[in-house]
Amino acid sequence: MSTKSSAAGTPRPDKHAPSTLAFATQAVHAGNAVDKGTGAVRTPLVMANSYLLPDDPSTMDWSSAEGLVYTRNSGANQVALQNKLAALEGGEEAVVLATGVAALHSVFFTHLKSGDHVVVSNVTYDAVWRLFAELLPEKYGIEATFVDIGDLDTVRGAMRPNTRLVHAETIANPTTTVADIAGLADIAHAAGALLSVDSTWTPPPFYRALRDGADLVVHSLTKYINGHGDAMGGVVIGSRELVEPIRHQAMVEVGGVISPFNAWMIMRGSVTLPLRLRQHLTSAEKVAQYLASDPRIAYVYYPGLASHPQHATARRQFGGEGFGAMMAFAVDGDSDTQNRFVGHLRVITSAVSLGHDESLIVHVGDSGRGGMENYPEPFRKYGHLRLSVGLEDADDLIADIRAALDATFPS
Ligand SMILES: *Cc1c(COP(=O)(O)O)cnc(C)c1O
Repeated sequence: MSTKSSAAGTPRPDKHAPSTLAFATQAVHAGNAVDKGTGAVRTPLVMANSYLLPDDPSTMDWSSAEGLVYTRNSGANQVALQNKLAALEGGEEAVVLATGVAALHSVFFTHLKSGDHVVVSNVTYDAVWRLFAELLPEKYGIEATFVDIGDLDTVRGAMRPNTRLVHAETIANPTTTVADIAGLADIAHAAGALLSVDSTWTPPPFYRALRDGADLVVHSLTKYINGHGDAMGGVVIGSRELVEPIRHQAMVEVGGVISPFNAWMIMRGSVTLPLRLRQHLTSAEKVAQYLASDPRIAYVYYPGLASHPQHATARRQFGGEGFGAMMAFAVDGDSDTQNRFVGHLRVITSAVSLGHDESLIVHVGDSGRGGMENYPEPFRKYGHLRLSVGLEDADDLIADIRAALDATFPS
């Protein structure tokens, strides 16, 4: 480990040095450093657009992301967060951007060009669906084939000589279809393509897709990694060779940069990630078990239930550590019944987003999300409620659901 001097002159360990320390220790220390100016032991919030230039700036590369020059190229809080997230995901480099969608787009924008083909899950975050179903093909001539990502033979059959990328969510939003990342990596690499994985629903230390062969991992930092529902951000993590072009092309030249304040907030939120995650995972299993046991619930999709189509894959891939904290279900009734049920909830909040401290539920219904025809049959019959199990007491969450069901179905 290298050392640096604090303002008081005492050598301190460099907190950014990659290490063999356990995850919980890295979640506290990685990316953080003693501030040289003040001796503060936390990386301060630096709300500055510009940094002092060297004595002779005339030979500088103005689109460089090296050093601190201009916050669209590189800012103190971005750098700290990047160092932290690269350490936590176990990747060489990270680039943080304004939102999860900016991070996803940065991968596609940088690593695809006109004439390329992509194989993408037929259930995916809505913005990714729009990008591959409409915007990228129509504007840039990038072609996509949507496949059932839970079926590796179908994925293999969709590969073409010009397939450059396979893209999947570890657990698909909202159907909870589990992707076999090692299996997908083999297929992608055999065809000379990259595998990018949206791991927003499965943050580290719960799961690390790079270890299973993914080339690039994307997170919406808006969700579990910040965890408090008060800042948006996105990250792409992978090898230097794949991340540096993203930093230059999609951050410096396109400019979807994260604000220093959001980077600082996410840095703070991420300190408790391993603690929060443990609670999310444990409570979600309890809530899912309850839902599966109540006859007023039409169906539940949660990878931890033995009835889930990819339960075995999830158990193997996530090493028995848990199954995420997201589930989809419906109460036994029509769309109005789903709304009435949600209206009776008192602890769980009706709002989009997920991975926050508070439990969030959204009735997506048949509001025309892209690819809904690919959702499993019960989703199409009843619609679905997407539930993000938060950090409240699990028994309170179950009691809230039970009371809302009682009010929805008076006996
Ligand atoms: C929320 C989400 C995103 C988008 O993230 P934003 O920060 O809202 O842009 C992408 N992928 C998944 C799986 C998500 O849940």
